[in-house]
Amino acid sequence: TKYVYDFAEGNKDLKDLLGGKGANLAEMVRLGLPVPPGFTITTEACREYLAAGRPPDELAAQVDAHLAALEATMGRRLGEPADPLLVSVRSGAKFSMPGMMETVLNVGLTDASVHGLAARSGNERFAWDSYRRLIQMFGKTVCDVPGEAFEHAMDRVKGERADVDLTTEELRGLVGEFKAIFAEHTGRDFPQDPREQMDLATNAVFDSWNAERAVLYRRQERIPADLGTAVNIVAMVFGNLGPDSGTGVAFTRDPATGARGVYGDYLANAQGEDVVAGIRNTVPLQELEQLDPKSFAELMAIMATLEGHYRDLCDIEFTIEAGRLWMLQTRVGKRTAAAAFIIASQLVDEGMIDLDEALRRQSGARLAQLMFPTFDDKDVGEPLAKGIAASPGAAVGRAVFDSARAVEEAAKGEKVILVRRETNPDDLPGMIAAQGILTSRGGKTSHAAVVARGMGKTCVCGADALEVDTAGKQVTVNGTTVREGDLISIDGTSGAIFLGEVPVQPSPVVRYFDGDLAPDADPLVAAVHRLLTRADERRRLGVRTNADTGEDAARARRFGAQGIGLCRTEHMFLGERRAMVERLILADGPDEQQHALDALLPLQRDDFAEIFRAMDGLPVTIRLIDPPLHEFLPPLEELAVAVATAETPDPHQEALLAAVRRMHEQNPMLGLRGVRLGLVIPGLFGMQVRAIAQAAAKVRGEGGDPRPEIMVPLVGAVQELEAVRADAERILAEEGTAGTPIGTMIEVPRAALTAGQIAEAADFFSFGTNDLTQMGWGFSRDDVEGSFFSRYLELGVFGVSPFETLDRDGIGRLVRIAVQEGRQARPDLKIGVCGEHGGDPESVRFFDEAGLDYVSCSPFRVPVARLEAGRAAL
Ligand code: ADP
Ligand code: MG
Ligand code: MG
Repeated sequence: TKYVYDFAEGNKDLKDLLGGKGANLAEMVRLGLPVPPGFTITTEACREYLAAGRPPDELAAQVDAHLAALEATMGRRLGEPADPLLVSVRSGAKFSMPGMMETVLNVGLTDASVHGLAARSGNERFAWDSYRRLIQMFGKTVCDVPGEAFEHAMDRVKGERADVDLTTEELRGLVGEFKAIFAEHTGRDFPQDPREQMDLATNAVFDSWNAERAVLYRRQERIPADLGTAVNIVAMVFGNLGPDSGTGVAFTRDPATGARGVYGDYLANAQGEDVVAGIRNTVPLQELEQLDPKSFAELMAIMATLEGHYRDLCDIEFTIEAGRLWMLQTRVGKRTAAAAFIIASQLVDEGMIDLDEALRRQSGARLAQLMFPTFDDKDVGEPLAKGIAASPGAAVGRAVFDSARAVEEAAKGEKVILVRRETNPDDLPGMIAAQGILTSRGGKTSHAAVVARGMGKTCVCGADALEVDTAGKQVTVNGTTVREGDLISIDGTSGAIFLGEVPVQPSPVVRYFDGDLAPDADPLVAAVHRLLTRADERRRLGVRTNADTGEDAARARRFGAQGIGLCRTEHMFLGERRAMVERLILADGPDEQQHALDALLPLQRDDFAEIFRAMDGLPVTIRLIDPPLHEFLPPLEELAVAVATAETPDPHQEALLAAVRRMHEQNPMLGLRGVRLGLVIPGLFGMQVRAIAQAAAKVRGEGGDPRPEIMVPLVGAVQELEAVRADAERILAEEGTAGTPIGTMIEVPRAALTAGQIAEAADFFSFGTNDLTQMGWGFSRDDVEGSFFSRYLELGVFGVSPFETLDRDGIGRLVRIAVQEGRQARPDLKIGVCGEHGGDPESVRFFDEAGLDYVSCSPFRVPVARLEAGRAAL
């Protein structure tokens, strides 16, 4: 097996094998960009290492050969005392996991070679600085020496000065101290064999794939757990050689807004890690133009080349060694949801991609993010301070100052904002738990910013007016002190930080959907409009909405719904109408029952008429009453107490109590509900059908165009549907609306398995995937999500809750069977889905594949479903 690839052998499409970093380094080499030479050890080697607990047998020899070639290219040998080659050992998985895994720089320095480096570079300070960095990074990442041990030692020497002010002598002294710390914590001396350093670092990078924070990040981002990481061995270039050296990161466009320009941070006389870690404050990349015009110009040209080549926003890492520019990393950069739309639209205008490609690059999940409300900060006065708008959104919560506290409070249901000087990968659990993240240091490329953007979480970073006192659990801002538990609001779109709770307002995207903003109101709205229009042109799937009121229906229609896929009728029996349902249940004989139904009929008729008006000309699928009737009665306990403690007996209460006792069920969800109810209580479904027919006639009389469809819930056998259908057809004929489509939900597994029979009596099917999932798996949604689901996710029984994304293998199979056998029996059968999966991006894709005619989802999910349906058709 080939485990090692020279950079010259790879390319950007080999991410599976070389990881993103390795594949893109190779691609830059192919483009002729200045990349320090090196090679990549594959993810396959990592997987085998993790499985066997040791490197694959052939690996060492292959590394030998590639190292020899690298040494030949560089004209130096790894760690050679007189003139050492140094390398970095860098992680790099298929999907970028910022800061999650390990990298060790300056590998190859030893007590002997540090002198060679000093002599060769003519810079003794630099050599000792590099050596102390190696011992520190190696100790921490390879040997688990606690980082603070080194930091404390360094702080003692440094005092109030910056790290660049440390003298050669002090650095030499620090190296001695660091070696002692290393020996104390590991029980061995710092390794003096350069090749051993490199191999140990390689294994540590492999191991870091399974570090706790990496595992957590992958679960959060839904990255598969079994990919492994590649390891890149890269010849070192030195940004810490003096003032004409430095290191930086940059984006080809603003990752928060998509605006074109130069975005990045630069730090003179430093090595890569310093920028991200916020050791010193960076300067904006523009200032490099003054500091080193030649390198700046070269960098701009390279960034243009990369954008053109990747046809997308790229982020990069670079280092300048004594006036010479080196590229150390690039990738298609993470960006905010808004920027994703705007940039794609810009790239279309620039002729780099076409509209379909722009659509392909979006996701429903991102569009959903853009529909969250934003702050209404017109009347809230001055912000407490302003930081860098790193990841948009409006977050309100109580200030907490460490990750563990954030997790604790969130578990109690508190909303919290995690406030830190800067974050590091150990803060990840707190970042996940928090509503938003606020830091006093670091720019748009800091850990906090990058990770928050990836998670779609609000973040304001680099608010340097904040004096964060983590130990004292408080932050002082221009004289104001905010303590743990105080409410603050942060605006990730403007960077503003407010004391207290700021009210929120609908997002511009939602205002556009509502018709309150024109499609060209701003660049984001324009981009969303453009790409959704494209999605509508492309999609095969219809998109309807689940709506129970005229108001919801009207809104969903503005959001692009092409009808109602599910109108529930149960809420129409609540409130003051509950008394009527009680009368129906307690009715003594058919006359009384009919009386109760007669009272409900006109109310239902008005309910339906309102919805038909809102959805004029579009189909409205009305589901006949579904839940068990006792849901409309008071709870047993409450009634029993009332009856027992009544001063004088109340016959009505007593009758109710008797009814509730009679109707009590062990498993109400598997009990008397849906079509069963319709068949057992004569007249109930009939009343609803009559109300639908009369409402339709009424609206038609007004000049409207009502399109009702009648849907029967919980059918498991065709005989059930036939019985309901016969009765309904009689009533429809009486009311002069014969021909109204009558269909059924497919939500009981037996219905899916006998779909061929059921289709004989159905004009349409609509998958009730909530019940189908519940009954297919045999667990009750209301009970399980809070109990054993987290364990199931941990065990990998499923990667995501089957109530969130349809389980393709099992429940999806039932869907496919029902579609196939239903259509076989009745080719013109219309088929949709009305469970919550209808608005889930992954599931929409599945329903498209399965050949459904439409999905139906809540009004707010309608644009998401339109977008995903469009993407599914590409
Ligand atoms: P991460 O994935 O966490 O960004 P990297 O492997 O990119 O880790 O490395 C960490 C830092 O070290 C980056 O800033 C990178 O640019 C820098 N770096 C890595 N390799 C070299 C090298 N060969 N020479 C100089 N700097 C390097
Ligand atoms: Mg990097
Ligand atoms: Mg159901």
